[in-house]
Amino acid sequence: MSAGFLLVLSGPSGSGKGTVSERLMEKNDKIIYSTSVTTRTPRPGEVNGENYFFATIDEFEEMVKKGELLEYAFVHTNYYGTPKKFVFDEIEKGEIVFLEIDVQGALQIKEKYKEAVFIFLLPPTMDELKDRLIKRDTETQEEINTRFKNAFKELDFVGEYDYFVVNETVDQAVADIENIIAAEKLRVKRHKDIKKEVMAEKKGEEIDNSII
Ligand code: 5GP
Repeated sequence: MSAGFLLVLSGPSGSGKGTVSERLMEKNDKIIYSTSVTTRTPRPGEVNGENYFFATIDEFEEMVKKGELLEYAFVHTNYYGTPKKFVFDEIEKGEIVFLEIDVQGALQIKEKYKEAVFIFLLPPTMDELKDRLIKRDTETQEEINTRFKNAFKELDFVGEYDYFVVNETVDQAVADIENIIAAEKLRVKRHKDIKKEVMAEKKGEEIDNSII
């Protein structure tokens, strides 16, 4: 079994990160979703502890002060952060922990945690991204403008990531991410002793090392 690792997905607002993440999690019960903390107000239908841990600014600042966040950032108009303990406990157990976070947070993790895998999700075109932002109807016109402007800035950082996935369709984007995970699990560096793993599979059987 490969060692646990962090899988970080970023991409501009409207790239479809939320939908792609949801489908990825539905299809793969072995991947562990890290629920972030945010000071943003919940959208209709969002559940505390499921979509996010919703916190006040004071509560958030307290978590920062106590060093409880692996990374945090001010995104658009609110604070968002990743609870540290949960992430490291799961990695320790050998799990793949999935983070859906913005570019600033991803860069903080890249500094501290070299083993993580970074994927950048792109919209097929910027016009498509604008359309998606308008159609989902969850932000005010002003918020849409902020998010659209930020999208262009975020694209400057795609070079910092290991992989990019273009979200033409959700199924294809999820399949691309699953392929990345499959490849990452086969990285030699994610295994302590491959010879031992192979031998363990042969347990009880005579190993034939004779030359044919
Ligand atoms: P939304 O408000 O649409 O749920 O999320 C806004 C942005 O915050 C998205 O780009 C999302 O990836 C990012 N985000 C969500 N959770 C975290 C987090 O824990 N840390 C950071 N840095 N960004 C986050």
